[in-house]
Amino acid sequence: MDTVDGKNLENKKNDKMDKEKSKPERMCICCRRKGKKSEFFRISEQNGKYIFDREMKVQARGFYVCKTNECVERLSKNRKYKIEIEQLVKMLEQIKFEKKSIIDILKPMKNSEYFVFGIDETIDGVKKGKVKLLIIPRDIRAKYIEEFEKLKENFNFDIIFVEKKEELIRLFSRDVNVVGIFNKKVIKGILSKVEVMNG
Ligand SMILES: [Zn+2]
Repeated sequence: MDTVDGKNLENKKNDKMDKEKSKPERMCICCRRKGKKSEFFRISEQNGKYIFDREMKVQARGFYVCKTNECVERLSKNRKYKIEIEQLVKMLEQIKFEKKSIIDILKPMKNSEYFVFGIDETIDGVKKGKVKLLIIPRDIRAKYIEEFEKLKENFNFDIIFVEKKEELIRLFSRDVNVVGIFNKKVIKGILSKVEVMNG
């Protein structure tokens, strides 16, 4: 019996490890924020230089940085990793491109009934297991963003960041801090398009 139990325990442990392995966490070297690979740019070393590894396919040592103007700017001042200006410009252009794209993806469905608006409604939806995708502007109060990142420890949902709250306000023609989406099909559609644009 002991061995069986021991084995079960071992299997459970392996399951847990597999789950953790399938969801590898990356960390921004500028602000130390952790998250999924798709939330970061990869920079890798090639011939002694650091280059923007857009496709994340370069087989070399690399590191990650948030897809934000702030962190790319901080990277430009980093003394340890000297990165050429043209590589930094490429990253800034990519941020612009992706920012435009998520708004473009949402535009045709802006009147759909699958959105919830506002902090409390979204948190409530996440806790009930309904809301599975959040669109969060980076310029809302930091405590809200922290709250959502904390929620991620206990609930399963994805986050897409946009730079400014203003973009969501313009799109939905209403005052909105955060948007939650709860239809599985709609979410799948949005995420697949986001993945396409992220390469
Ligand atoms: Zn960062």
